[in-house]
Amino acid sequence: MNKRRCFWIAPTSEAFERLTVRGPGDRKCQIVPYYHTASVRGANRPKFDLIQTNVGDVKYPTHCNGCGYPFIKTDMHTRDFVAVFSGIKPDGVPWNGSLDEAPVGAMFDDVVRGASESESRGPDGMCLFVRTLGGWWPIDVKYPGARYERSGTAPDITVEGTVTVPNSYGSWSGSLIHGYLIDAAGAPATH
Ligand SMILES: [Zn+2]
Repeated sequence: MNKRRCFWIAPTSEAFERLTVRGPGDRKCQIVPYYHTASVRGANRPKFDLIQTNVGDVKYPTHCNGCGYPFIKTDMHTRDFVAVFSGIKPDGVPWNGSLDEAPVGAMFDDVVRGASESESRGPDGMCLFVRTLGGWWPIDVKYPGARYERSGTAPDITVEGTVTVPNSYGSWSGSLIHGYLIDAAGAPATH
């Protein structure tokens, strides 16, 4: 039985620039799922500074990440900014990055990210998400037929019962007890 300690992450005053190019829909990539795609990540920058970026300075990827297809002008070029979160991992090492990059065990309060008043909240008023091997588990978001009761002080949370968290790469089944994600017995994670 595997268990992983949870740790707290919070948004910083920084963001990074992300430049993505996606190829035409009529030519599917043989390597990456669906379209030819590539992204590059810029350095972390203060959020207030982002508006000053000169659009002419940005350097988009020139080739598909999977198969090397060379992008052309009419392929879709998008530029966005991604919030940087930070925290201290259970081994004491500082971590910072996007929510997509967060390691298993990372936990945050979606209210600080601007969750609407109508979104579900736990008993402490927070809307907790924790990263599992199956992706983000929105503990406090209520689905039809799913309602998790939790106790404890974040990140030392206990949730009643077990959960299966799916994502496009696989799924994870287990439980969250006293701030540890615990794999379900006999059901190793697939990923
Ligand atoms: Zn490709």
